[in-house]
Amino acid sequence: MKMVLTGLGRLEIQTDDRDMKVSDDALVLTDVLCCAVCRTDAKMWEQGHRDLVFPRVLGHEMVVRDETGKRFMVWPGKSCGVCVFCRTGKENLCEHMKISGFHTDGGFAHKALLPKDSLIPLPDALPSPIACFAEPVGCVINAFEKLPAKTGDRVLVYGGGTMGLITALYALDLGLIPLVIEKNEPKIRKIAPFLSASGISCAKDTHESEFDLIINACADYKAFCQGIAKICKGGHLAFFSGISKNEQIETNLLNLIHYREAVVSGVYGMTRDHMQKALPFMETRAGLLELLIEDTLAPETTPAIMPKVLSGNYLKYILDFSLSNPSAPVSVKTLPSSPGLKPEDLPSQSLCRTVLESIAPVPEDLLPAATPGWMKKPNPWAPWAAWKTWPSAWP
Ligand SMILES: [Zn+2]
Ligand SMILES: [Zn+2]
Repeated sequence: MKMVLTGLGRLEIQTDDRDMKVSDDALVLTDVLCCAVCRTDAKMWEQGHRDLVFPRVLGHEMVVRDETGKRFMVWPGKSCGVCVFCRTGKENLCEHMKISGFHTDGGFAHKALLPKDSLIPLPDALPSPIACFAEPVGCVINAFEKLPAKTGDRVLVYGGGTMGLITALYALDLGLIPLVIEKNEPKIRKIAPFLSASGISCAKDTHESEFDLIINACADYKAFCQGIAKICKGGHLAFFSGISKNEQIETNLLNLIHYREAVVSGVYGMTRDHMQKALPFMETRAGLLELLIEDTLAPETTPAIMPKVLSGNYLKYILDFSLSNPSAPVSVKTLPSSPGLKPEDLPSQSLCRTVLESIAPVPEDLLPAATPGWMKKPNPWAPWAAWKTWPSAWP
């Protein structure tokens, strides 16, 4: 069984996996044990991507088992090994990178055909759902390797989602002092157990400034701008999450980077080495990482949870293939139609959500003036009367 993205918003559950043949010595056919649903998956489900060709099996945060029963986490890349980036330890920037669940089929399936080189063995004691965090943790490790962090440094993290919280937790383990900024009240309530168990501080905003390190773990460009204003002289900002497109950033803000001799470092994905380094962190912090799991579900539920993942209001959903029900009906799930879409289902920074949330009922005293003249005419819908008799024939 596999979940195949056949078009925008269309995830089909298919049972035919005859195309899963090992045609190349560099590949291995594996059983997928668990696969986390990343916001990137949900974005591709909703919006597609320039390089995404349908049909495609999504999913890149997976734990698999080979035919001998060994479990592995999966570095989701396939790099060329010969370009200048591959040869200098920056394989995440490979000129010919192919990503599982993006360029090739990924982990939203019972079986995944993966490059042998991408499999990293897992210790027996680490539960598979926790090991699904290897990719986000690896990305966080890549970010911190770009930063000259010293014990006691103050770190400002924008975004209280799983990435922001993993970032703060990793900072804590490095002896730094993290503060997470999260504006969404329901989300703050949701992450409260993690915050209290870890001792990490979270606020909607801070008047403090002069932070040594800033990391943006959300796509809001305003958070990125605020981050620049909060850097101390000689401080560093990790440009970790891509930000909302086609926004404008004031040059006055960019001048702060100049005056303060601040450093902005781009961070994109991670290497196999970063993923390997994620292991000890996941082992020692398994209990806290478990608090970042929203739910562990049968893979057949994927279409239903995509809008939730897209909204950014939930923590990590893990698909557990041992919960799969092979007799479940084969179904197609499409994007929800607009009448059922609530503002909270939309991404927090989306224009559509901003517009929906800004709509307020017309005050009673203004209602007469707000009523258009045509509504006072008799039977304004007369031209549509004939149409109203059609619905039985309407699809
Ligand atoms: Zn991901
Ligand atoms: Zn390369």
